[in-house]
Amino acid sequence: MTIDREAFIDNFIRAAEKNGLSSALNEEQIVTFHKLSEHLLTVNEQFNLTAIREWERVILLHYIDCLVASSFYPEGATVIDVGCGAGFPTLPLAIARPDLRITGLDSTAKRVSFVAGTAELLGLSNLTTLTGRAEDVAKDARYRERFDVATARAVAALPVLAELCLPFVRTEGDFVALKGKSGKEELASARTALPLLGGDGGRLFDTPLSSLDGESFSHTTVLVKKSKPTPALYPRAYGKILKNPL
Ligand code: SAM
Repeated sequence: MTIDREAFIDNFIRAAEKNGLSSALNEEQIVTFHKLSEHLLTVNEQFNLTAIREWERVILLHYIDCLVASSFYPEGATVIDVGCGAGFPTLPLAIARPDLRITGLDSTAKRVSFVAGTAELLGLSNLTTLTGRAEDVAKDARYRERFDVATARAVAALPVLAELCLPFVRTEGDFVALKGKSGKEELASARTALPLLGGDGGRLFDTPLSSLDGESFSHTTVLVKKSKPTPALYPRAYGKILKNPL
C-alpha cells in the first residue's frame, strides 16, 4: 500500500501536536513511521495484524496511543513488551526513543516474525524479539528480573497482566501498563496482586487521546514500582492465573 508521504507527515505532526507530543519527534522519525505504515498495511492485506486499516487511524490509535505514555520509560531503560503482537508499543517506542533497548515478546511466531522483519526493514537496532509465553520466559534466568521496565498494551486485565509482567522487572524498576477507560477499576482489582508480586500499590495517570476532529478517547497508564523480588512461585501456569487471579 502506498501512502502519500506529505499528507502522512502533515497528519502525524498535527496529531502529535494535538496530543502534546510536538517536540518529541524529528522529521526522520516521522518518515520512519510513514515507512512502517506502508509496510504494516501492506502485510495486513494478507495476514491479519490489525483491525485498523486507515492510515490516519493507525497514526492515532496505534502510534500516538502508545507514545502518549512515552515519558513513563526512563532514559536508557531496557524494556520488555509482553504480548507485543504486531509491535505495539514495541515499534513506536523503538522509533521514537532510540535511547531505549526494547525486547518484543509474543507467543505467536507469526507476529514476532513480522516485528523482527520490520525492525530490520526500518533499521531499528534497539529492538530484539522473543517468541514464547510470558509465564514460561519469565522463569528463564536470562530474562527474569533483568529489565528496567516491563510494559504491555491490550493483553489482559491488570491482576493477570501483573503476574505476567512483574517477574521480568528488576527491583526498583517499573511495570507500565497501557490501559483504556477501565484503568481505574483494574488498578483497584489488582491491589492484592501487586504487593504479592513485589510491586508497590501502583498509580494511575490519565493519558487521554484526541483525534484531529475532536473525538476523545479515555486512556490511562498504570505505573507500578517494583520494591522487592517476585517470589519464585510466580508466574504460575496460565490456566491457574486465569482461573484464580491473585
Ligand atoms: N500489544 C499489542 C497491541 O496493543 O496491539 C497486541 C495486543 S493483542 C490483543 C494480545 C497479544 O498478546 C497477542 O499477540 C497474543 O499472542 C499475546 N499474548 C497473550 N497472552 C500471552 C502470553 N501469556 N505470553 C505471550 N504473549 C501473549
